[in-house]
Amino acid sequence: MNKLEYVIPVYNEEKCLPELMSRLENVRNKLTELDVHILFINDGSADRSREQLIEFTRRYDYVRVIDLSRNFGHQYALTAGLDFCDADYICIIDGDMQDPPELVSEMLAKLQKESLNIVYGKRRQRQGETLFKKVTANAYYRLLNRMCQLEIPRDTGDFRLIDRKVVDALREMKETHRFIRGMVPWLGFKSAPFLYDRDARFAGDTKYTLRKMLRLAFDGMFSFSRKPLRVASYVGVVVALGGFVGLAYMIFLKLFTDDVVPGITVILTAISILGGVQLLMLGVVGEYLGRVFEQTKQRPLYIIDNIYAGESDER
Ligand code: UDP
Ligand code: MG
Repeated sequence: MNKLEYVIPVYNEEKCLPELMSRLENVRNKLTELDVHILFINDGSADRSREQLIEFTRRYDYVRVIDLSRNFGHQYALTAGLDFCDADYICIIDGDMQDPPELVSEMLAKLQKESLNIVYGKRRQRQGETLFKKVTANAYYRLLNRMCQLEIPRDTGDFRLIDRKVVDALREMKETHRFIRGMVPWLGFKSAPFLYDRDARFAGDTKYTLRKMLRLAFDGMFSFSRKPLRVASYVGVVVALGGFVGLAYMIFLKLFTDDVVPGITVILTAISILGGVQLLMLGVVGEYLGRVFEQTKQRPLYIIDNIYAGESDER
């Protein structure tokens, strides 16, 4: 019998977990042709999530929990899950039930019927998300797709069903800055979207603070595109051209009219434009350099405190 495993990162989801577990139990009871397992990753929750998850492992022998040593962030929690899952099919899904876990049977049917390796959830509608989030997400993915060669599907998060081959390939990608929704399309393989309506979060607030969202956005941008570096050259050309035009104009004024542009204005304008552009570009170069620095340290991507499976701890 084929094994299917849900990989679910959890960060302070105590209000969602009991409902999530009962929904997953229902799915398991319906999907009898598969051996369904669940791998939770506790990403350093500060509420009762950890205790709830450990309790699940005592009650259900098909539940495992990786307990990370602190909050590493969604993408790292997912990475830990992908490193430890051992099923034939893996479903990556959030713990807040925005992506209905029941859809996995339809996704699997599509994957098998069309002999695909990846079926990714594409949002037809997004309930309960702020206009700000929708607008910024839309603009960001447009920009990202212009900047990198790779086509990263829009309206797609990390909710997807992937097979063993894809997981094995993902494990080979050791990059420190992880943007999994870009890494999976980078791998290639046969993939297709699965349209679904994204529900509102079941309970609690989003765990993606503006800061975490920006970090993810920058990781996507700087990990998948080198174009920001090239912006320096473009801006340099434009500024230099502007300078030449200005210079020609001033010479013209001096030679053929009685007007003269005051020197101090010209100098101050030139200094501030060039200074601003140079600082900005230094920041961009620094961004890449900082990422090289992080990568060369070769630190582990996450630290595990404990693994819980069935009655006894594995470690
Ligand atoms: N999450 C996590 N670590 C974090 C932030 C989020 O493991 O630092 C988990 C969270 O518990 C949820 C999933 O990642 O299962 C997606 O987070 P959330 O639903 O808050 O993001 P949104 O849907 O609002 O983008
Ligand atoms: Mg959510």
